[in-house]
Amino acid sequence: MEYQAKELFAAHGVPVTAGVVATTPEEARAAAEQLGVVVVKAQVKAGGRGKAGGVKLARTPEEAEQHASAILGMEIKGLTVHRVLIAPAASIEEEYYFSFLLDRANRRYLCIASVEGGVEIEEVAQTNPDAVKQIPIDPGTGVDEAKAREIVAEAAFPEALRDQAVQTVLALWQVFVSEDATLVEVNPLARLAGDKLEALDGKVSLDDNADFRHETHAQFEDESSADPLEAKAKEKGLNYVKLDGSVGIIGNGAGLVMSTLDVVAYAGEAHGGVTPANFLDIGGGASAQVMADGLDVILNDAQVKSVFVNVFGGITSCDAVANGIVGALDILGDDATKPLVVRLDGNNVDEGRRILDERNHPLVTLVDTMDGAADKAAELAHAAK
Ligand code: GDP
Ligand code: MN
Repeated sequence: MEYQAKELFAAHGVPVTAGVVATTPEEARAAAEQLGVVVVKAQVKAGGRGKAGGVKLARTPEEAEQHASAILGMEIKGLTVHRVLIAPAASIEEEYYFSFLLDRANRRYLCIASVEGGVEIEEVAQTNPDAVKQIPIDPGTGVDEAKAREIVAEAAFPEALRDQAVQTVLALWQVFVSEDATLVEVNPLARLAGDKLEALDGKVSLDDNADFRHETHAQFEDESSADPLEAKAKEKGLNYVKLDGSVGIIGNGAGLVMSTLDVVAYAGEAHGGVTPANFLDIGGGASAQVMADGLDVILNDAQVKSVFVNVFGGITSCDAVANGIVGALDILGDDATKPLVVRLDGNNVDEGRRILDERNHPLVTLVDTMDGAADKAAELAHAAK
């Protein structure tokens, strides 16, 4: 959210003006009494707040209270506003756009900058693409002062602001690198009265693969808008993504799970259009505990009507996975309530199948092929509707 992005900006020397976060109209009013003329800004993880009516100027504390009461509870792009930032109003002369981002396709970073920033930046990019400069950044060398000068010249920041712009670009690069961000965006980066450059808005996407080295990043998690199943899976260290369908999916390896989603969606066409309920990759070494954790998350999804466990034994052999499934069902006991279709193949498959046959659990159906298992799981999900 903007106020969090601004905290990161301030920590790395990007010029910002701190505001006050309010969760009630009364708090907004109290903040405005301290700050004078303010802007009341919806804090949600979405852009386009201004256009949605989520950014309002308030000349008096009464006005701040009224705007806050209108904005709190408002929905912007499907997100409910629970907080507003009360920021001292700035006198804006010009609005620029600036960002650093990860350019996956070209395996490098990219800087996008425009002196025609503001809420119409998407429009500018469409109608006047030459005004939006794209400057590639070599990940090996990054942004040093010379590169920052090149960016500032390319973007054509006004002469009077060049030195400030160079320092701001360097500070934003520090945010990008030190915080392990995949996006650092400022729009507007504003030219204020007196030729002062300041970030009036901010958006930062953090790479959660780097969470282990950023204890402070946990505070940015927005629990109120996280899916409860995803939150539970994350707590257990599972790679889980909630989807909309009714066939729960567990597999080992992201590639296999992705293909499983496709195969189930395809098989589902013949069974009332059922689709996958989730992505869940339990990775290699599927112990009983990991299998139980995975099943626990999936079985708690009310939309799930059947579960497809699709495992290809490689380094982890099928007998270990079969023991994992049997162990998971024992751990879950009466909590396991939905039919499981299991397809095992690969390393030590015969022993794996023998273990499942021997256990003969009433909820488990063993199917030899991936297509056959997908069909069975889709059929069971459809029948349970
Ligand atoms: P966004 O619409 O979600 O990107 O929200 P922004 O924070 O970028 O605000 C949208 C627009 O509101 C900006 O482009 C500015 O024109 C205006 N705005 C934001 N903060 C201020 C401020 O402090 N003073 C003034 N005068 N305008 C502001
Ligand atoms: Mn903005």
